[in-house]
Amino acid sequence: MSKRLEDKFYEGLRGEIPEPVVKEAEVSPAPVAKPLSSRSLFSHPDTHPVALDLALLKHFQLDWFPWLPETLFYEIEQTFKTSIAETNKLKIMAVKTLHVIDAFWEEWEIFEKTVQALNGVPPLITTMQPPDLPFLFAGVDMANAIRKEDCNDEIARYCAAIFLHEEVYYAPEPLAFCQPYISQPTYCCKDCDKCGSALPPFDGLCTSCAGYYTDDKPFNLKPDPEALKLGRGRNITLSQKYDSGPVKTRFEELNKLSGNHLVSAIREVPEDIQAAKLITATDFQNYRAQQLKDQLSALRGWLEMPHA
Ligand SMILES: [Zn+2]
Repeated sequence: MSKRLEDKFYEGLRGEIPEPVVKEAEVSPAPVAKPLSSRSLFSHPDTHPVALDLALLKHFQLDWFPWLPETLFYEIEQTFKTSIAETNKLKIMAVKTLHVIDAFWEEWEIFEKTVQALNGVPPLITTMQPPDLPFLFAGVDMANAIRKEDCNDEIARYCAAIFLHEEVYYAPEPLAFCQPYISQPTYCCKDCDKCGSALPPFDGLCTSCAGYYTDDKPFNLKPDPEALKLGRGRNITLSQKYDSGPVKTRFEELNKLSGNHLVSAIREVPEDIQAAKLITATDFQNYRAQQLKDQLSALRGWLEMPHA
């Protein structure tokens, strides 16, 4: 990661990478087993990032956005008379990153580390750390709950690389934005035999026959108006390197089943294996969403109380 990106990321996560040794209090299974309450909101290691965000917005409004991590954590400890689990410090800084900068939707390094932190995993600043599909689905869903923006090309390509690495060729929501980069559409021209990428900003024309390179300024990347008038460049066929269709069909069919019905319906064929991976990922996303609902209903009375 470049120095500039690292600095930017540290605006969100500065100096708050948890110590490698897990503290004794967190080794005990007791806090995990206990349900979340307003008293344990910050100390409970399973608190959902959105629940932390709502509590901070309620008590500090927008004031906490510019605070340094040490100030923010001190204020939380004093205001709520609580300790803060190391994993919640990560989630809080990831949430703050989403609120204060746009890099999550624009730069893959920030996207990757924020997804990990939202899932409670310490980001490793010097190492690439792509999330697996369940963390990717849950992370993007959590980020969308905090702030919804469109991901740029770079993030779409990064997410597509994760799918291709897992050999899954279909991306349902909330990852559908990366589908073109998974499918990798191509065209072949029936007039000149040229084949090329049909990824955005492809406009449906063979670049050679539509005269993209015959203009006075050949790098303006526009078709020649004369060639367009003559209808040239349109005689093409489109295909996809990786076809999402069969996986989409099986994912939608299998996702309606559960338990033994699901297990016995999965066949040893590529589209079913891919669909099974997607069901695991979206089940994890749904589990985290349900966890948030449960936590918010446990906290409702407290969150609705007038600001003390
Ligand atoms: Zn052509």
